[in-house]
Amino acid sequence: MSVPLSQSSRWFARPLTLVVAVLLAVVAATGFLAIQYRQERQAADLLFERSRQVLETLDRLRTVIADVEAQRRGYLLTLDPSYLKAYGVSDESVRRDAQALQALVASDPLQNHRAGHLALTVTAKLREIDDIVKTASTSGLAALAMIRSLDEIRSQIDQMVDHERFLLVDHEKRAEALERRKAWLIAAAVVIVATLAGVALALARLEARRRRKATEENVRLQNDVAEREKKIRRLVDANIIGIIIWEVDGRILEANDAFLRMVGYDREDLASGRLHRAMLTPPEWHERDARTEAELRRSGTAQPFEKEYVRKDGSRVPVLIGGAMFEEGANQGVGFVLDLSERKRAVEALRQSEERFRTLVQFSFDVYWETDAQHRFIHQEFADSLADAPASGSEIGKTRWEVPYVEPDEETWRKHRETLDAHLPFRDFELARLAPDGSKRYVSVSGLPVFDDTGRFVGYRGVGRHITERRLAEEALRAMQAELAHVNRVTTMGQLTASIAHEVNQPIAATVTNAQAALRWLRAQPPNLGEVRDSLGRIVEDGQRAGNVIGGIRALINKLPPRKDRFDLNEAIVEMVVLTRSEVVKHGISLQTELAPGLPMVEGDRTQLQQVILNLILNAIEAMGGIDWGRRELRINTGREAGGGVLVTVRDSGPGLDPADVEHVFKAFYTTKPKGMGMGLAICRSMVEAHGGRMWASANEPRGAVFQFTLPLERDESIPAQHVRPNPAA
Ligand code: ADP
Repeated sequence: MSVPLSQSSRWFARPLTLVVAVLLAVVAATGFLAIQYRQERQAADLLFERSRQVLETLDRLRTVIADVEAQRRGYLLTLDPSYLKAYGVSDESVRRDAQALQALVASDPLQNHRAGHLALTVTAKLREIDDIVKTASTSGLAALAMIRSLDEIRSQIDQMVDHERFLLVDHEKRAEALERRKAWLIAAAVVIVATLAGVALALARLEARRRRKATEENVRLQNDVAEREKKIRRLVDANIIGIIIWEVDGRILEANDAFLRMVGYDREDLASGRLHRAMLTPPEWHERDARTEAELRRSGTAQPFEKEYVRKDGSRVPVLIGGAMFEEGANQGVGFVLDLSERKRAVEALRQSEERFRTLVQFSFDVYWETDAQHRFIHQEFADSLADAPASGSEIGKTRWEVPYVEPDEETWRKHRETLDAHLPFRDFELARLAPDGSKRYVSVSGLPVFDDTGRFVGYRGVGRHITERRLAEEALRAMQAELAHVNRVTTMGQLTASIAHEVNQPIAATVTNAQAALRWLRAQPPNLGEVRDSLGRIVEDGQRAGNVIGGIRALINKLPPRKDRFDLNEAIVEMVVLTRSEVVKHGISLQTELAPGLPMVEGDRTQLQQVILNLILNAIEAMGGIDWGRRELRINTGREAGGGVLVTVRDSGPGLDPADVEHVFKAFYTTKPKGMGMGLAICRSMVEAHGGRMWASANEPRGAVFQFTLPLERDESIPAQHVRPNPAA
């Protein structure tokens, strides 16, 4: 049979009881042993006493026998009857002692037997002696023999005395052993009792301390309980959560206002005892309630779970409910009810917001991405609308710069990585990858750094938008804007003046030069009137040219079509070479012209096209004027171009053009010169284009710049291209 746990633990909890029990057992055992000792002692004393008496009796017997022997011997020797008086007494005493002896050794069979034998012998001998004494006339020798026979009695007495002495020694030994045992017993009892008393004292102290603690604990617990009760009461009264007290079968006995508010009932409903779990619970939750009831009965608590209540008005309220029985085996318990409406609404709002956000992302962005702290992709989602999206998952684990992008350039990447490593947000970082057809697909990505609760950087999260169309549109727009800016600027008054001044400057300079020449011819002795006439003729031409320039610019600005002359292009070029010869010589430049002979006539504004050539020559002179190394060479070519038109080429050995600037030089106001206007090449190109031609620049070999322009031919000038022959300048 097993001992109930509580009982056995009580035994351990109260060792004092155990000690007392042991003490009692020791006392009982000691008592028992003491009684036993007493009995044994008494028995030993009795035996001792008996042996002593036996010895005394035997001693007495021996004396009496000796007396009897002496009396008989005296009588037989003297036949004096006075000896026989005393004999009667001795005889009687011998018999009595023999009987007493028999009684004393009754318990010892051997001694008893000997005593019996001795008594018989004594009686027989005494009778024999009496007979001899009565016939005293018989020989004294026989009588003496008879008397001698008393020695046998004496020997028997000696035997008994020996035996009894032996017994006495044995009794003494046993008595000693008993005494020793007693001493040990007393000592052991004293030690055990002292030890137990010590233990009991210690335990009593422990117990006292434990009790004191328990009392303190009790007081604390009571305070705790009171405190907790107060808190619970506050909780109940605070009405933050619904609290109900129920019977396990579902009847609600008490409820706070929060609960009543939640389910829409009032205190009267509660007081009437109508409130019942079954009534508050929609049918589909009954089965769940049954399980909870079983759980409560089994374990005493019900883990919180979500369910619904039906309000008094029939609507439903989602709740979280948990509860516990008051005590084991009882029928009542407490339940905590939390209204989840708000939370459900929040969750729903969150879900909707996420959905809205998803929709927004879906329609606003083409890529959603996440990277880890090392900037490696951990998540990528591509919109269905994104053409040429990389295969799903193919870029996971790579950084963005490990993905084959063709743009941006290294410097931009470096700056971008600096931003990433500084964990800063970034916007509209534009990248280009190659589409299977070889065209570029542009994506613009933006990202925000993500930090965890401890503020540790965990990666980036961001979106990307496909911007190829936008980029193309932007480029077109930029071109248009540049054009617009150009037009705007050209039409501003001050700049117009500047450009007119620039273009008119050349004919005026030529006029001055020719006028000075005419003056020199006039001052000559005799004056050379022929030369003066020529100079004046050239002055007239220059004046007309200046007028034409202004007319041309005005026409350009008014977007009037250029004038239509038919002229020899080579001849127009030679005129410009002549005009600039002094500048060429001044700068130590060697000038060569290779003008294709028999070039078809060109249709167009002769003055404008001469402006173009003049501008190219002056630019080349200026460019080479700035260098002090190598030969300064200027070559002007004309010839036919593959498309059928004419091609004019001006090349120099100056510093040349930065490949990145090749197009910029044609932009209005682009200049690298301190006093430059940056208008010359822009106007040149627009003049050439107004004639239906093209103009461009490139690098010369081994150094310098090449400027070229084409002009279409008149429609009827469809002669085949001719070989270009060198034609040194005049
Ligand atoms: P500007 O003469 O006022 O500078 P242009 O339009 O004629 O205006 O020239 C624009 C720029 O083009 C010049 O400032 C110069 O930097 C560059 N350029 C033009 N021609 C040459 C050339 N032959 N060699 C090197 N650079 C040139």
